[in-house]
Amino acid sequence: MATVCELRCPVCDRSYRPEEVMYFCPACGQVGTLMALYDYPALKAQLDRDAFQSNPVRSMWRYRSLLPLQPDSPLPPLRVGDTPLYETPRLAAALGVARAWVKDDGQNPTGSLKDRASALIVARAQEQKMSVVSTASTGNAAAALAGVAASVGLRTIIFVPATAPEAKIAQLLVYGATVLLVEDTYDVAFDLCYTMCEQESWYCRNTGLNPYTAEGKKTVSYEIAEQLGWRLPDVVVVSVGDGNIIAGVYKGFYDLHQLGWIPRLPRLIGVQAAGSAALVDAWQRDLRPEQMQPIEAQTIADSISAGLPRDRAKALQAVRQTGGAFVAVSDDEIVRAIPQLARLTGVFAEPAAAAVFAGAQRAVQSMMIDIHESVLLLATGNGLKDVRRAQQAVGSGLRVQPDLAAIRKALKQ
Ligand SMILES: *Cc1c(COP(=O)(O)O)cnc(C)c1O
Ligand SMILES: [Zn+2]
Repeated sequence: MATVCELRCPVCDRSYRPEEVMYFCPACGQVGTLMALYDYPALKAQLDRDAFQSNPVRSMWRYRSLLPLQPDSPLPPLRVGDTPLYETPRLAAALGVARAWVKDDGQNPTGSLKDRASALIVARAQEQKMSVVSTASTGNAAAALAGVAASVGLRTIIFVPATAPEAKIAQLLVYGATVLLVEDTYDVAFDLCYTMCEQESWYCRNTGLNPYTAEGKKTVSYEIAEQLGWRLPDVVVVSVGDGNIIAGVYKGFYDLHQLGWIPRLPRLIGVQAAGSAALVDAWQRDLRPEQMQPIEAQTIADSISAGLPRDRAKALQAVRQTGGAFVAVSDDEIVRAIPQLARLTGVFAEPAAAAVFAGAQRAVQSMMIDIHESVLLLATGNGLKDVRRAQQAVGSGLRVQPDLAAIRKALKQ
């Protein structure tokens, strides 16, 4: 466990004590999503990076000493984290870079990286004796919350846009969540959820709004560092909707750097869908987060569809502080990336996650990544979450009569 010593606003740079504010910066409003910071010199004196090697815990709780939890709080039992990292020379060759890895976070218990945030939020909800946790979500955050909460018997109330993919809604219902299918956008669902949480004293997991979602997600960076023997890739490519994952990835490397365990942070490249590219635009025009205006988001990659990214301030900070970039890719490129990534690596990713492959290609072509560099693609969600889109990219199989001659004939075509 680690004690949060301040919550800092990336917009106005004000600091708050953790007991002083629950969600966002009171001075800036919701654009001021907060970053949880620790007493790094004290942690540095207590902890040893190489001691993790002998830690027998095989989940994100391995990094409990760097998470905002009390010493003996109960932890949800689902195994979140400890996802595989594969080095894939064929992926490197396809991208035209020196080395490439893919980290398959679709192997989390509910099929996405969001489990990391939800596990921490559920642990904190239990510490604070909250009886209900609620979230708005395009699908995966809700599934993650419902799944982790089910493992400890905690009640969840979920707000999703009625247009969320069926498989994702089914997942919520299976876990026993109370599901409100809001007949409007994610943004509207988000505001409704927060208002209900305030009025009913439910704990609100809303992405970005709750400062601790990124604290859970940061464990992916700790894992990457440990799995690579603390020698980090030059570039990490992350798909971006609300910007909370890229903020969490940044926060993980930031912590490790503050602790003196890594010499520098990898450059972070955020990939957005062309129809939902508010952060690409803000980065290109050098806007401040509070200057960004909502756009009409339109993409088949539902997990990265966001009109006004909720964690825009921290997402811009993540890319700017690491000398990274934002790139946009079309829906066509995203759909094609699903089988491309799967065939190069064996990792089947949902559209929003496969987008990193298209984004990495783009970044190499536009010289944001040099051919001598090493690149890690973060696969954030499992392809089985949205099989319909994958089918669009690959068509159907070969239909054959049940005899060998017909099979041989079909194979020749
Ligand atoms: C949520 C999600 C993203 C984007 O994360 P943000 O924090 O919204 O930027 C990307 N891929 C998958 C699979 C997701 O579920
Ligand atoms: Zn502020």
